[in-house]
Amino acid sequence: MLVNGAVIAGKSAVKGRSAEETEQIRVVLRERFESLDTEYAQAVADNHQLRLVEIGDAAGDDQADSGSKTAERDAATSLLRTLLDRREQAELALQRLDEGAYGNCESCSQPIPVARLEVFPSATTCVACKSTRERRAG
Ligand SMILES: [Zn+2]
Repeated sequence: MLVNGAVIAGKSAVKGRSAEETEQIRVVLRERFESLDTEYAQAVADNHQLRLVEIGDAAGDDQADSGSKTAERDAATSLLRTLLDRREQAELALQRLDEGAYGNCESCSQPIPVARLEVFPSATTCVACKSTRERRAG
């Protein structure tokens, strides 16, 4: 068997995946990264505002008030962390795609269908292997 695909598409070729599909995945991942980036920037701005408001009226707070503000701030912090994580995952996926290491099942090394990657960009196994694993685990 000749590995035509890999030669034509260069280093971004993934085993069994066409250059078009790889490009399609790249677009999906980039869009995801950009939307998470925007969301993160917005959350940072909101969080900043929250802190400013807090500093502004901290003096007159009673105990219950500052308690609910702590909860609000904790929620904001955990949202930031989640967004940062997901943004990083998208970034890593893009890097791995460039290295030709993204989108193949780590179990059977077949290409994971684009439709699955669009929904779960961090998927590392195909549906078949995932369900096999879950059966074993459960
Ligand atoms: Zn698999």
